[in-house]
Amino acid sequence: MKFEDYRIAEEIVNCLKDLGFKRPTDIQYKAIPSILKGEDVLAVAQTGTGKTAAYAIPVLHLLHQNKSSKRTEGIKCVVMVPTHELAIQVTDVFKEIGKRTKVKAFGIYGGVEQDAQIQRLQKGIDILVATPGRLFDLRSQGYIDLSTIEILVLDEADYMLDLGFIKDIEDLVRLLPRKRQTLFFSATISKKIKETAYSLVKTEAIRIQISPKNPVAKNVSHQVTFIEMDDKRFFLERLVNENPDVKILAFVRTKVRAERVKSAMERVGIQCLTIHSDKSQEERNHILDQFKSGAVKLLVATDVSARGVDIPNIEFVVNYDLPEQVENYVHRVGRTGRANHRGYAISFCSPEEKELLEQIETFLDNKIEVLKIDHVDYQQTLVFTQEVSNDWKALIQNTEELEENVRLKKKRKKK
Ligand code: AMP
Repeated sequence: MKFEDYRIAEEIVNCLKDLGFKRPTDIQYKAIPSILKGEDVLAVAQTGTGKTAAYAIPVLHLLHQNKSSKRTEGIKCVVMVPTHELAIQVTDVFKEIGKRTKVKAFGIYGGVEQDAQIQRLQKGIDILVATPGRLFDLRSQGYIDLSTIEILVLDEADYMLDLGFIKDIEDLVRLLPRKRQTLFFSATISKKIKETAYSLVKTEAIRIQISPKNPVAKNVSHQVTFIEMDDKRFFLERLVNENPDVKILAFVRTKVRAERVKSAMERVGIQCLTIHSDKSQEERNHILDQFKSGAVKLLVATDVSARGVDIPNIEFVVNYDLPEQVENYVHRVGRTGRANHRGYAISFCSPEEKELLEQIETFLDNKIEVLKIDHVDYQQTLVFTQEVSNDWKALIQNTEELEENVRLKKKRKKK
Protein backbone atom coordinates (compact mmCIF):
# COMPACT_ATOMS: atom_id res chain seq x y z
CA MET A 1 0.00 0.00 0.00
CA LYS A 2 1.33 3.42 -0.96
CA PHE A 3 -0.04 6.87 -0.19
CA GLU A 4 -0.84 7.30 -3.88
CA ASP A 5 -3.33 4.42 -3.56
CA TYR A 6 -5.62 6.52 -1.38
CA ARG A 7 -7.68 9.20 -2.99
CA ILE A 8 -5.59 11.94 -1.46
CA ALA A 9 -4.79 15.23 -3.20
CA GLU A 10 -1.54 15.17 -5.15
CA GLU A 11 -0.35 18.22 -3.18
CA ILE A 12 -0.48 16.15 0.02
CA VAL A 13 1.05 13.01 -1.48
CA ASN A 14 3.98 15.11 -2.72
CA CYS A 15 4.55 16.55 0.75
CA LEU A 16 4.59 13.03 2.18
CA LYS A 17 7.26 12.18 -0.38
CA ASP A 18 9.28 15.23 0.71
CA LEU A 19 9.06 13.98 4.29
CA GLY A 20 10.33 10.57 3.22
CA PHE A 21 7.12 8.77 4.19
CA LYS A 22 7.12 5.87 1.74
CA ARG A 23 4.15 3.89 2.95
CA PRO A 24 1.51 4.24 5.65
CA THR A 25 2.22 2.91 9.12
CA ASP A 26 -0.25 0.48 10.69
CA ILE A 27 -2.40 3.15 12.29
CA GLN A 28 -2.42 5.23 9.10
CA TYR A 29 -3.41 2.20 7.04
CA LYS A 30 -6.33 1.58 9.37
CA ALA A 31 -7.47 5.15 10.07
CA ILE A 32 -7.06 7.11 6.83
CA PRO A 33 -9.80 5.43 4.71
CA SER A 34 -12.41 5.75 7.49
CA ILE A 35 -11.61 9.38 8.21
CA LEU A 36 -11.77 10.18 4.48
CA LYS A 37 -15.25 8.64 4.42
CA GLY A 38 -16.32 10.98 7.21
CA GLU A 39 -16.56 8.30 9.88
CA ASP A 40 -15.83 8.81 13.57
CA VAL A 41 -12.72 7.02 14.81
CA LEU A 42 -11.67 5.80 18.23
CA ALA A 43 -8.02 4.83 18.07
CA VAL A 44 -5.69 3.46 20.71
CA ALA A 45 -2.14 4.14 19.59
CA GLN A 46 0.99 5.47 21.21
CA THR A 47 3.23 8.26 20.00
CA GLY A 48 5.75 6.78 17.64
CA THR A 49 3.20 4.85 15.62
CA GLY A 50 2.60 7.71 13.18
CA LYS A 51 -0.73 8.58 14.79
CA THR A 52 -0.48 12.33 14.19
CA ALA A 53 -0.20 11.90 10.44
CA ALA A 54 -2.95 9.26 10.66
CA TYR A 55 -5.43 12.06 11.31
CA ALA A 56 -3.52 14.98 9.77
CA ILE A 57 -3.39 13.46 6.28
CA PRO A 58 -7.15 12.83 5.85
CA VAL A 59 -8.17 16.01 7.69
CA LEU A 60 -5.94 18.07 5.40
CA HIS A 61 -7.36 16.31 2.36
CA LEU A 62 -10.97 16.95 3.41
CA LEU A 63 -10.32 20.61 4.13
CA HIS A 64 -8.30 21.00 0.94
CA GLN A 65 -11.34 19.74 -0.97
CA ASN A 66 -13.53 22.20 0.94
CA LYS A 67 -11.26 25.04 -0.10
CA SER A 68 -11.38 24.01 -3.74
CA SER A 69 -15.17 24.01 -3.64
CA LYS A 70 -15.12 27.48 -2.00
CA ARG A 71 -16.99 26.48 1.13
CA THR A 72 -17.66 28.95 3.93
CA GLU A 73 -14.96 30.67 5.96
CA GLY A 74 -14.15 29.93 9.61
CA ILE A 75 -12.26 27.32 11.60
CA LYS A 76 -13.15 23.86 10.31
CA CYS A 77 -11.16 21.57 12.58
CA VAL A 78 -10.10 21.83 16.20
CA VAL A 79 -7.43 19.53 17.61
CA MET A 80 -7.29 19.52 21.40
CA VAL A 81 -4.00 18.38 22.93
CA PRO A 82 -2.83 18.23 26.56
CA THR A 83 0.52 20.08 26.42
CA HIS A 84 2.23 23.06 24.76
CA GLU A 85 4.91 20.78 23.32
CA LEU A 86 2.35 18.57 21.69
CA ALA A 87 0.49 21.60 20.34
CA ILE A 88 3.66 22.83 18.63
CA GLN A 89 4.50 19.40 17.34
CA VAL A 90 1.05 18.62 15.97
CA THR A 91 0.84 22.03 14.30
CA ASP A 92 4.19 21.38 12.63
CA VAL A 93 2.93 18.06 11.27
CA PHE A 94 -0.14 19.79 9.76
CA LYS A 95 2.07 22.53 8.32
CA GLU A 96 4.55 20.11 6.79
CA ILE A 97 1.98 17.77 5.29
CA GLY A 98 -0.22 20.65 4.13
CA LYS A 99 2.62 22.81 2.83
CA ARG A 100 1.48 22.65 -0.80
CA THR A 101 -2.21 23.20 0.02
CA LYS A 102 -3.98 26.40 1.03
CA VAL A 103 -5.19 24.87 4.30
CA LYS A 104 -3.86 26.87 7.22
CA ALA A 105 -3.07 25.30 10.59
CA PHE A 106 -2.20 27.24 13.71
CA GLY A 107 -1.38 26.28 17.28
CA ILE A 108 -2.36 28.13 20.45
CA TYR A 109 -1.07 27.26 23.91
CA GLY A 110 -0.36 28.94 27.21
CA GLY A 111 2.95 30.08 28.65
CA VAL A 112 3.55 32.60 25.86
CA GLU A 113 2.12 36.05 25.05
CA GLN A 114 -1.39 36.09 23.62
CA ASP A 115 -0.97 38.98 21.19
CA ALA A 116 0.79 37.18 18.35
CA GLN A 117 -1.71 34.33 18.62
CA ILE A 118 -4.65 36.75 18.46
CA GLN A 119 -3.23 38.51 15.40
CA ARG A 120 -2.77 35.21 13.60
CA LEU A 121 -6.29 34.05 14.51
CA GLN A 122 -7.70 37.25 13.07
CA LYS A 123 -6.11 36.54 9.70
CA GLY A 124 -8.21 33.37 9.46
CA ILE A 125 -7.23 29.74 9.88
CA ASP A 126 -8.72 26.35 8.99
CA ILE A 127 -7.22 24.07 11.62
CA LEU A 128 -6.79 25.13 15.22
CA VAL A 129 -4.51 23.05 17.44
CA ALA A 130 -4.97 24.06 21.07
CA THR A 131 -4.39 23.27 24.70
CA PRO A 132 -7.59 23.65 26.76
CA GLY A 133 -6.58 26.66 28.88
CA ARG A 134 -5.62 28.95 26.02
CA LEU A 135 -8.51 27.78 23.86
CA PHE A 136 -11.13 28.78 26.44
CA ASP A 137 -9.25 31.92 27.34
CA LEU A 138 -9.18 33.25 23.78
CA ARG A 139 -12.71 32.07 23.10
CA SER A 140 -14.06 33.90 26.12
CA GLN A 141 -12.38 37.06 24.80
CA GLY A 142 -14.22 36.56 21.52
CA TYR A 143 -11.28 35.64 19.29
CA ILE A 144 -12.40 32.10 18.51
CA ASP A 145 -15.69 31.06 16.96
CA LEU A 146 -16.32 27.33 17.23
CA SER A 147 -19.66 27.29 15.40
CA THR A 148 -18.08 26.39 12.05
CA ILE A 149 -16.21 23.31 13.31
CA GLU A 150 -16.74 20.18 11.24
CA ILE A 151 -14.04 17.95 12.71
CA LEU A 152 -12.98 17.51 16.35
CA VAL A 153 -9.73 15.69 17.13
CA LEU A 154 -8.78 14.76 20.68
CA ASP A 155 -5.17 13.68 20.86
CA GLU A 156 -3.58 11.91 23.84
CA ALA A 157 -7.01 11.84 25.43
CA ASP A 158 -5.80 9.61 28.28
CA TYR A 159 -3.20 12.17 29.22
CA MET A 160 -5.82 14.91 29.11
CA LEU A 161 -7.90 12.94 31.59
CA ASP A 162 -4.81 12.34 33.78
CA LEU A 163 -4.25 16.09 33.87
CA GLY A 164 -7.85 16.67 34.89
CA PHE A 165 -9.08 18.12 31.60
CA ILE A 166 -12.27 16.05 31.49
CA LYS A 167 -14.47 19.06 32.18
CA ASP A 168 -12.71 21.06 29.49
CA ILE A 169 -13.40 18.31 26.98
CA GLU A 170 -17.07 18.27 27.96
CA ASP A 171 -17.26 22.06 27.79
CA LEU A 172 -15.65 22.13 24.38
CA VAL A 173 -18.00 19.52 22.99
CA ARG A 174 -21.01 21.54 24.18
CA LEU A 175 -19.76 24.49 22.16
CA LEU A 176 -19.35 22.54 18.92
CA PRO A 177 -22.00 21.83 16.29
CA ARG A 178 -23.70 18.47 16.89
CA LYS A 179 -23.17 17.46 13.31
CA ARG A 180 -19.45 16.86 13.18
CA GLN A 181 -16.83 14.17 12.77
CA THR A 182 -15.00 13.16 15.96
CA LEU A 183 -11.57 11.52 16.03
CA PHE A 184 -10.52 10.27 19.44
CA PHE A 185 -6.89 9.21 19.98
CA SER A 186 -5.54 7.77 23.20
CA ALA A 187 -2.26 6.02 24.04
CA THR A 188 -3.91 3.69 26.55
CA ILE A 189 -7.41 2.46 27.14
CA SER A 190 -9.17 2.16 30.50
CA LYS A 191 -12.77 2.07 31.66
CA LYS A 192 -12.75 5.83 32.14
CA ILE A 193 -11.28 6.48 28.71
CA LYS A 194 -13.86 4.21 27.10
CA GLU A 195 -16.70 6.01 28.87
CA THR A 196 -15.42 9.39 27.73
CA ALA A 197 -14.79 8.18 24.20
CA TYR A 198 -18.22 6.60 23.82
CA SER A 199 -19.89 9.78 25.04
CA LEU A 200 -18.18 11.69 22.22
CA VAL A 201 -18.06 9.49 19.14
CA LYS A 202 -21.03 8.12 17.20
CA THR A 203 -22.08 4.56 18.03
CA GLU A 204 -20.95 3.30 14.65
CA ALA A 205 -17.45 4.81 15.12
CA ILE A 206 -14.55 2.78 13.76
CA ARG A 207 -12.42 1.31 16.54
CA ILE A 208 -8.72 0.83 15.95
CA GLN A 209 -6.20 -0.59 18.38
CA ILE A 210 -2.51 -0.86 17.62
CA SER A 211 -0.50 -3.54 19.45
CA PRO A 212 -2.89 -3.94 22.35
CA LYS A 213 -1.05 -6.78 24.06
CA ASN A 214 2.45 -5.50 24.07
CA PRO A 215 2.17 -1.74 23.88
CA VAL A 216 5.83 -0.97 23.28
CA ALA A 217 7.35 -0.61 19.83
CA LYS A 218 8.62 -3.84 18.31
CA ASN A 219 11.91 -2.44 17.14
CA VAL A 220 13.08 -1.38 20.57
CA SER A 221 15.47 -3.59 22.44
CA HIS A 222 14.73 -3.48 26.14
CA GLN A 223 17.41 -4.13 28.67
CA VAL A 224 17.88 -3.64 32.35
CA THR A 225 21.05 -3.42 34.31
CA PHE A 226 21.30 -3.86 38.05
CA ILE A 227 23.30 -1.04 39.45
CA GLU A 228 23.75 0.75 42.75
CA MET A 229 21.96 4.10 42.96
CA ASP A 230 25.27 5.95 43.36
CA ASP A 231 26.84 4.26 40.34
CA LYS A 232 24.15 5.34 37.90
CA ARG A 233 25.91 8.52 36.86
CA PHE A 234 29.10 6.63 36.01
CA PHE A 235 27.19 4.34 33.74
CA LEU A 236 25.40 7.23 32.05
CA GLU A 237 28.74 8.95 31.55
CA ARG A 238 30.13 5.81 29.94
CA LEU A 239 27.10 5.41 27.73
CA VAL A 240 27.43 8.99 26.47
CA ASN A 241 31.16 8.69 25.87
CA GLU A 242 30.89 5.36 24.09
CA ASN A 243 28.12 6.65 21.82
CA PRO A 244 29.17 10.18 20.91
CA ASP A 245 26.94 10.49 17.84
CA VAL A 246 23.60 9.47 19.24
CA LYS A 247 20.95 11.32 21.15
CA ILE A 248 20.23 10.02 24.62
CA LEU A 249 17.10 10.88 26.54
CA ALA A 250 17.35 9.99 30.22
CA PHE A 251 14.36 9.97 32.53
CA VAL A 252 14.54 10.77 36.21
CA ARG A 253 11.86 10.90 38.85
CA THR A 254 12.09 14.52 39.98
CA LYS A 255 13.29 17.89 38.76
CA VAL A 256 15.83 18.04 41.57
CA ARG A 257 17.33 14.78 40.36
CA ALA A 258 17.35 16.10 36.80
CA GLU A 259 19.49 19.05 37.88
CA ARG A 260 21.77 16.78 39.91
CA VAL A 261 22.40 14.49 36.98
CA LYS A 262 23.13 17.54 34.83
CA SER A 263 25.72 18.82 37.33
CA ALA A 264 27.32 15.38 37.57
CA MET A 265 27.61 15.18 33.79
CA GLU A 266 28.95 18.70 33.44
CA ARG A 267 31.61 17.94 36.06
CA VAL A 268 33.01 15.28 33.73
CA GLY A 269 32.79 17.54 30.66
CA ILE A 270 29.53 16.23 29.17
CA GLN A 271 27.07 18.82 27.88
CA CYS A 272 23.61 18.15 29.21
CA LEU A 273 20.15 19.73 29.03
CA THR A 274 17.26 19.31 31.41
CA ILE A 275 13.54 19.69 30.87
CA HIS A 276 11.04 19.82 33.70
CA SER A 277 8.19 21.85 35.11
CA ASP A 278 10.42 24.65 36.44
CA LYS A 279 11.40 25.67 32.91
CA SER A 280 9.36 28.31 31.14
CA GLN A 281 7.73 27.55 27.82
CA GLU A 282 10.33 29.59 25.99
CA GLU A 283 13.16 27.73 27.73
CA ARG A 284 11.57 24.40 26.93
CA ASN A 285 11.26 25.24 23.26
CA HIS A 286 14.87 26.35 23.15
CA ILE A 287 16.03 23.19 24.93
CA LEU A 288 14.06 20.95 22.59
CA ASP A 289 15.49 22.79 19.57
CA GLN A 290 19.03 22.30 20.85
CA PHE A 291 18.37 18.61 21.43
CA LYS A 292 16.57 18.09 18.13
CA SER A 293 19.37 19.74 16.16
CA GLY A 294 21.91 17.54 17.95
CA ALA A 295 23.81 20.55 19.36
CA VAL A 296 23.54 18.84 22.75
CA LYS A 297 23.13 15.08 22.76
CA LEU A 298 22.01 14.35 26.29
CA LEU A 299 18.63 15.45 27.61
CA VAL A 300 17.50 14.63 31.13
CA ALA A 301 13.75 14.85 31.59
CA THR A 302 10.95 14.19 34.03
CA ASP A 303 7.91 12.25 32.85
CA VAL A 304 5.39 15.06 32.57
CA SER A 305 7.62 17.38 30.57
CA ALA A 306 8.51 14.77 27.96
CA ARG A 307 5.18 13.12 27.39
CA GLY A 308 4.00 13.16 23.80
CA VAL A 309 7.00 15.10 22.58
CA ASP A 310 8.31 13.89 19.25
CA ILE A 311 12.06 14.07 19.08
CA PRO A 312 13.28 12.22 16.01
CA ASN A 313 16.24 9.85 15.95
CA ILE A 314 16.67 9.06 19.60
CA GLU A 315 18.59 5.86 19.82
CA PHE A 316 18.69 5.52 23.57
CA VAL A 317 16.06 6.04 26.16
CA VAL A 318 17.58 5.61 29.58
CA ASN A 319 15.39 4.96 32.56
CA TYR A 320 17.88 6.52 34.92
CA ASP A 321 15.22 6.08 37.57
CA LEU A 322 12.56 3.48 36.99
CA PRO A 323 9.12 5.06 36.58
CA GLU A 324 6.84 4.82 39.59
CA GLN A 325 3.79 4.59 37.38
CA VAL A 326 4.08 1.55 35.19
CA GLU A 327 2.42 3.14 32.14
CA ASN A 328 5.17 5.74 32.10
CA TYR A 329 7.57 3.01 31.03
CA VAL A 330 5.59 2.75 27.81
CA HIS A 331 5.46 6.51 27.33
CA ARG A 332 9.18 6.85 27.96
CA VAL A 333 10.35 4.12 25.64
CA GLY A 334 7.85 5.35 23.05
CA ARG A 335 10.42 8.06 22.37
CA THR A 336 12.73 5.58 20.69
CA GLY A 337 12.26 3.04 17.91
CA ARG A 338 9.87 5.34 16.07
CA ALA A 339 8.51 4.77 12.61
CA ASN A 340 10.72 1.79 11.89
CA HIS A 341 13.94 3.22 13.31
CA ARG A 342 15.92 1.12 15.74
CA GLY A 343 15.93 1.98 19.41
CA TYR A 344 17.29 0.90 22.76
CA ALA A 345 15.66 1.26 26.12
CA ILE A 346 17.99 0.76 29.04
CA SER A 347 16.79 0.76 32.61
CA PHE A 348 19.12 1.38 35.51
CA CYS A 349 17.62 -0.62 38.35
CA SER A 350 18.94 -0.14 41.87
CA PRO A 351 18.16 -2.68 44.61
CA GLU A 352 15.44 -0.31 45.90
CA GLU A 353 13.72 -0.34 42.50
CA LYS A 354 13.44 -4.10 41.95
CA GLU A 355 9.77 -4.12 42.88
CA LEU A 356 9.06 -1.44 40.26
CA LEU A 357 10.83 -3.55 37.66
CA GLU A 358 8.62 -6.52 38.51
CA GLN A 359 5.54 -4.36 38.07
CA ILE A 360 6.77 -3.18 34.66
CA GLU A 361 7.44 -6.73 33.53
CA THR A 362 3.98 -7.82 34.63
CA PHE A 363 2.45 -4.90 32.75
CA LEU A 364 4.42 -5.69 29.59
CA ASP A 365 3.77 -9.39 30.04
CA ASN A 366 7.43 -9.84 29.23
CA LYS A 367 10.73 -10.24 31.05
CA ILE A 368 13.24 -7.52 30.26
CA GLU A 369 16.60 -8.88 29.22
CA VAL A 370 19.27 -8.39 31.85
CA LEU A 371 22.40 -6.65 30.73
CA LYS A 372 25.30 -7.79 32.84
CA ILE A 373 28.02 -5.27 33.33
CA ASP A 374 31.19 -5.64 35.17
CA HIS A 375 30.83 -2.69 37.48
CA VAL A 376 34.56 -2.20 37.62
CA ASP A 377 35.20 -2.36 33.89
CA TYR A 378 32.69 -0.12 32.20
CA GLN A 379 34.33 -0.84 28.85
CA GLN A 380 31.77 -3.57 28.55
CA THR A 381 29.15 -1.06 27.62
CA LEU A 382 30.83 -0.63 24.26
CA VAL A 383 30.67 -4.34 23.58
CA PHE A 384 27.04 -4.29 24.56
CA THR A 385 25.99 -1.55 22.19
CA GLN A 386 27.78 -3.13 19.26
CA GLU A 387 26.32 -6.52 19.94
CA VAL A 388 22.83 -5.19 20.11
CA SER A 389 23.17 -3.15 17.00
CA ASN A 390 24.36 -6.16 14.98
CA ASP A 391 21.41 -8.20 16.18
CA TRP A 392 19.24 -5.36 15.23
CA LYS A 393 20.57 -5.04 11.74
CA ALA A 394 19.84 -8.73 11.18
CA LEU A 395 16.32 -8.27 12.46
CA ILE A 396 15.66 -5.31 10.16
CA GLN A 397 16.98 -7.19 7.19
CA ASN A 398 14.74 -10.16 7.95
CA THR A 399 11.71 -7.94 8.34
CA GLU A 400 12.41 -6.12 5.10
CA GLU A 401 12.89 -9.38 3.23
CA LEU A 402 9.70 -10.73 4.71
CA GLU A 403 7.75 -7.64 3.68
CA GLU A 404 9.20 -7.78 0.17
CA ASN A 405 8.20 -11.45 -0.13
CA VAL A 406 4.66 -10.70 0.92
CA ARG A 407 4.49 -7.89 -1.63
CA LEU A 408 5.78 -10.14 -4.40
CA LYS A 409 3.34 -12.89 -3.50
CA LYS A 410 0.42 -10.46 -3.60
CA LYS A 411 1.56 -9.18 -7.00
CA ARG A 412 1.77 -12.70 -8.36
CA LYS A 413 -1.72 -13.48 -7.07
CA LYS A 414 -3.16 -10.41 -8.78
CA LYS A 415 -1.66 -11.49 -12.10
P1 AMP B 1 3.78 10.16 15.93
O1 AMP B 1 3.33 8.79 16.33
O2 AMP B 1 2.72 10.94 15.27
O3 AMP B 1 4.43 10.89 17.08
O4 AMP B 1 4.92 9.99 14.79
C1 AMP B 1 6.17 9.43 15.05
C2 AMP B 1 7.18 9.69 13.96
O5 AMP B 1 6.88 8.91 12.82
C3 AMP B 1 7.26 11.12 13.48
O6 AMP B 1 8.61 11.54 13.56
C4 AMP B 1 6.79 11.09 12.07
O7 AMP B 1 7.47 12.01 11.28
C5 AMP B 1 7.09 9.67 11.63
N1 AMP B 1 6.14 9.11 10.62
C6 AMP B 1 4.80 9.23 10.62
N2 AMP B 1 4.25 8.57 9.58
C7 AMP B 1 5.29 8.00 8.90
C8 AMP B 1 5.37 7.17 7.71
N3 AMP B 1 4.29 6.79 7.05
N4 AMP B 1 6.60 6.79 7.31
C9 AMP B 1 7.69 7.17 8.00
N5 AMP B 1 7.69 7.95 9.10
C10 AMP B 1 6.50 8.35 9.56
